[in-house]
Amino acid sequence: MRFAILSDIHSNLEALTSVFEVLRDQNIGDIVCLGDIVGYGANPNECVALVREHCRVSLLGNHDLAAVDPSVADFFNMHAREAALWTAENLSAENKQYLQELPYTAVVEGARLVHSSPSEPEAWHYIVSLLDARPMFRFFSESICFVGHSHVPGVFAEASLTGRVNRTERFLVNVGSVGQPRDGDPRSSFGIFDTDRWEYVNLRIDYDVESAMRKIREAGLPRKLADRLAAGV
Ligand code: ZN
Repeated sequence: MRFAILSDIHSNLEALTSVFEVLRDQNIGDIVCLGDIVGYGANPNECVALVREHCRVSLLGNHDLAAVDPSVADFFNMHAREAALWTAENLSAENKQYLQELPYTAVVEGARLVHSSPSEPEAWHYIVSLLDARPMFRFFSESICFVGHSHVPGVFAEASLTGRVNRTERFLVNVGSVGQPRDGDPRSSFGIFDTDRWEYVNLRIDYDVESAMRKIREAGLPRKLADRLAAGV
């Protein structure tokens, strides 16, 4: 089967709906979400509702946690904290309850899923490079582990330098961010994994960045959170 892996949506409804449209066209059965449904963007309730409706599993991200426990935002930078407090104020009680019950990690179709790192899912470590990835392999037993959190897509093999998932070794894959990419490419990033062929592809798709930016400004959220969407940083 083929399933889609989304992460770091960050209340960006324009990005999320564009991704769902592509998945509908691609005839993807299951969709999983690695967390950070909310935070930064202007449509937290709409994004939580779509994830609840369409995703087989979602995990807890640090921004989801901050939306239900604002003390977590003490560790965020200024703009992220401001957005977290705004999100906590604007999220419905029902959606907060949903976020509160999300797990830190899950296994779907033989793949390990975690928002940050398999070593300590609650400590919110970032996996950006091969150096970050290599020590992580002893913390999961599955052949493949999908992560998000850094907003930078990447494929890391356990032993070789290949950037292509295959059956001969184990992999850790960062699927990138749907709603706030940070690798200099403003397009939405997500992954599709084919469990029959054991193949992984990272997709990048355009969405209405201008509307997402305008809504952030109109909500009174920090302007910088809008500007960074245009640059993909
Ligand atoms: Zn995030």
